[in-house]
Amino acid sequence: MSIATNIESLQIDLKPIGVTLVAVSKTKPQTAIMEAYEAGQRIFGENMVQELVEKQEALPKDIEWHLIGHLQTNKVKYIAPFIQLIESVDSIKLLKEIDKHAAKHDRVIDCLLQVYIADEDSKFGLDHAELVELLRDPEFASLQHVRIRGLMGIATNTENEKVIKAEFYELKMLFDGIKASFFRQQDSFDTLSMGMSSDYQLAIEHGSTMVRLGSTIFGKRVIKHVKNKDAEN
Ligand SMILES: *Cc1c(COP(=O)(O)O)cnc(C)c1O
Repeated sequence: MSIATNIESLQIDLKPIGVTLVAVSKTKPQTAIMEAYEAGQRIFGENMVQELVEKQEALPKDIEWHLIGHLQTNKVKYIAPFIQLIESVDSIKLLKEIDKHAAKHDRVIDCLLQVYIADEDSKFGLDHAELVELLRDPEFASLQHVRIRGLMGIATNTENEKVIKAEFYELKMLFDGIKASFFRQQDSFDTLSMGMSSDYQLAIEHGSTMVRLGSTIFGKRVIKHVKNKDAEN
């Protein structure tokens, strides 16, 4: 199957049920992105700031870029002029930095709070207590240039569907609870980003509104070994 046919058949499945498709193009060349673009795809996700900035400069300006990987505060300035959605916000410190740079560009930047749901210690994200703490932080209430659109989570990388289902269930419950407690008046808190190539059908069954698919669209990536997770970006 070609990239174009992959995009077309995914959109036929996802559009009618209101699930947004993020094409995860990390490590993939610009030609591959353009093939997806020509097939109608406009939302792309990257996890490294430098790669994202290079692609954004070179590719059509109506592409909506999502950052899906860990973001260091000192890199926010590079993406603040154009980023559509930062899916991986995991601290008040980062949120304040995003707010600051968004203000400089007279923008409001949409963000998702990344929640840690996996049974692995290598994953980034907030636990439930940290999430509530962030939302109750008086500094959070004062931020004018960020808008929290919802939550993002990554399930455990396992074949065990029971584990994955339990994690997606937990995240959906958390999403509903957080919406009721903190965003009752805000219709813009509407996004639950969960599901990757191996588990997106389960994620949709459990209430996902946004799936992030890489290998299903573009084929397998060459594995890169990252020694230190803090060096990822
Ligand atoms: C790489 C990545 C994906 C896509 O993974 P696939 O298994 O190729 O679909 C989705 N979400 C995040 C956060 C990623 O880093």
